[in-house]
Amino acid sequence: MTRIVLATRNAGKIAELHRILGGLDVAGLDEFPGAPDVPETELTFEGNALLKARAIAASTGLPAVADDSGLCVDALNGMPGVLSARWSGRFGAGDRDAANLKLVLDQIADVADGQRGAAFVCAAVLVVPNGTEHGVEGEMRGALVREPRGSGGFGYDPIFVPDGETRTTAEMTPQEKDAISHRGKAFRALADLLPNALLP
Ligand code: IMP
Repeated sequence: MTRIVLATRNAGKIAELHRILGGLDVAGLDEFPGAPDVPETELTFEGNALLKARAIAASTGLPAVADDSGLCVDALNGMPGVLSARWSGRFGAGDRDAANLKLVLDQIADVADGQRGAAFVCAAVLVVPNGTEHGVEGEMRGALVREPRGSGGFGYDPIFVPDGETRTTAEMTPQEKDAISHRGKAFRALADLLPNALLP
């Protein structure tokens, strides 16, 4: 069975990729203690995912999958985007997810209900040690509410209601969110490419 490495130490992401990629042997970075920690210095989701996957494919000698994701808010011209995890900067010490979410809510406090559109975006890439690279992107559009709701998920989930839903993604089960999420879509698209991409 082909072994691939997922360029993350996040157990949730490894479990998610396991669910989607069923037949494949997916290892996390914890199995490769010497693998580098790659800073996300690019200006696009795909650029950051490629940085990570190239470094991990080079250091492990195995096909590597990496992703990068974030929240793009219409009223903020697509920000926080690639800066989503670090949006509150040093003011986010402590509970960084809560500080990031509060900052976005404050920034769009004056934005009318009909103009609070946003999208979660995820780029997922596969880099094969022979140098071949494949990239896909998944998006989940929705709108931002004014008060956080729900205790599931992470990050900006408590303020994001997907189009066609009344609940925030923090009020959904993991399976319900996977079925429509940016990461679910990107990983499923990547899974479709894998059989051909991994041919010797
Ligand atoms: P990364 O892809 O692990 O670098 O995540 C980037 C950041 O985007 C996270 O720290 C969250 O702030 C935000 N984010 C990405 N995906 C989600 C999601 O599914 N729900 C909530 N926040 C998310």
